[in-house]
Amino acid sequence: MTSEQDVDQVQPSVEGVPPARAGAVTAKESGAGGASGESALVVEHLSKRFGSRVAFDDVSFEVGYGEVFGFLGPNGAGKTTTVRTLGTLVAPTSGSATVAGIPLSADNGAAIRTRISIMPESPGLYLRLTVMENLQCFAGLYELDDVRGRIERALRAVNLLDRAGDSCGSLSKGLRQRVALARALLNDPVVLFLDEPTSGLDPVATREVHELIASLRERGVTIFLTTHRLEEAERLCHRVAILNTTLRLLGRPDELRAQLFRRSLDVRLRAPLADPEAVFGAVREVEGCEQAPSAGGYTLAVSDPEIAAPAVARALVGAGADILSIAESRHSLEDVYLELIDEDVEARRG
Ligand code: ATP
Repeated sequence: MTSEQDVDQVQPSVEGVPPARAGAVTAKESGAGGASGESALVVEHLSKRFGSRVAFDDVSFEVGYGEVFGFLGPNGAGKTTTVRTLGTLVAPTSGSATVAGIPLSADNGAAIRTRISIMPESPGLYLRLTVMENLQCFAGLYELDDVRGRIERALRAVNLLDRAGDSCGSLSKGLRQRVALARALLNDPVVLFLDEPTSGLDPVATREVHELIASLRERGVTIFLTTHRLEEAERLCHRVAILNTTLRLLGRPDELRAQLFRRSLDVRLRAPLADPEAVFGAVREVEGCEQAPSAGGYTLAVSDPEIAAPAVARALVGAGADILSIAESRHSLEDVYLELIDEDVEARRG
């Protein structure tokens, strides 16, 4: 295979490859929250350039067995190229990686490909063939054993057994995506790469794909998921990495929120305070105060919301204010993401 080969469905023979779950452990057992002795993916200072264009640069991370790892980033951040590099479809420019326990190198390409699957953004199915014929065709191309059993298990995993005789051309986009997922499961991959699996799907089909990924997660399949959908990452992934050519942040969604945002309280009053500084300034636990856009709204920086909230309530009652609500501010993964990407835009301008 040439280093720049563009192959969506390369999944050759899995002869002699242990089933996906052999040796797979839960994310918790594998220390999915950080480096573990044996990881499904180990990526060290990996970079890929196309001529003078840098696709991604100096990227390092580990993914534990059984972990669902989200890879987020704006358009052109290098997500797909990372998948293609780890999937042995393009060669890295520098750095090293171990994929499913095998060092990434030109010589090991075939061995790695027997242990992984890539589900590309577009399903790439033969539309005139039935679901069954498509899967038979790919199983044949990859020289898989026990084709019948494998197809049945894969179709069951994606709830498509009853559609096996339908031509792929007659299926909705969401169902085609499910067939593509079944195809990716045929070889019981040790690592399953899903590249934007819900791109272009409507909310119902998206939810179905989410449910499938969640059920694979339950079964302990190691998944590397690239996505633009932040709620998808937040819901499905044990940890997420945010890439913008370089790796900007990595951790559990709650860790990232804590890392990027100070803890704070959102206060809503029936009417604005005449002198907010005087009221909030007198509360020891409050470290800062900002007026929210809505009248009577304030955001208070605090070190511990659970201690600060009652003290703030007492101060407000003492000041005669009518309290509508006091709640800890909740930052979504989207807030984290936008904050980082904004920082990058600012840095480029500056
Ligand atoms: P998107 O979310 O839009 O799919 P992405 O994060 O997956 O984007 P990549 O497709 O990996 O980003 O592209 C990263 C950069 O590398 C882009 O600038 C892209 O134009 C460039 N690139 C990717 N593949 C090639 C190639 N074969 N030749 C030249 N440049 C490439």
